[in-house]
Amino acid sequence: MIAPFKAVAAAGDWSAQLHALAELLQMDVLPPGQVLRRALADDRYASNLFMSRGQPTLLRKLLASPGNAAFAEAAVAADSADIAAVPALATVGHAVAAMGRWAASGFATLSVDQAEARMAVCRPCAHYTAAPKNLLYGLTFDAAVDMNICSACGCVARRKAKLASEDCPKGYWPITQSKETHHA
Ligand code: SF4
Repeated sequence: MIAPFKAVAAAGDWSAQLHALAELLQMDVLPPGQVLRRALADDRYASNLFMSRGQPTLLRKLLASPGNAAFAEAAVAADSADIAAVPALATVGHAVAAMGRWAASGFATLSVDQAEARMAVCRPCAHYTAAPKNLLYGLTFDAAVDMNICSACGCVARRKAKLASEDCPKGYWPITQSKETHHA
């Protein structure tokens, strides 16, 4: 394993390793789990990632490499569905804090109706706005998905609205009865 990735592997549990990889590569969104698995097992791929750090165009190609598929089914502590629900947040530090809150909630997500009730408040809100075209939001994997952000906190509103542990920074969201949870 090449040196920079030893620190990633030693960062802690699976989510900590994902955040460490995002930080190493200067990404503001978490990489897919299969990228981390491959980087830890394939030194050549890891070297290419490291040399592409901070360069969105190169990273995008490496994150979409067909060779990553072979690393998609390895057993890991946190499955990709959980990780995919983590909001894209303004900074890695912010993401770590949100991840901690979400973990503390038992990875609880709201029902579709509860999340939609939040989004019904967001959509007409003055803070609900298109995400800027930069690295932070540019690495989303599905361009058809609503990536509007809340300008008050920098979160992708649609993702944030699903997480029981998150709240509207302005206090506009309806109170969620007893934070009813539906685990991801
Ligand atoms: S989270 Fe709150 S402040 Fe942000 S867009 Fe939604 S309603 Fe507005």
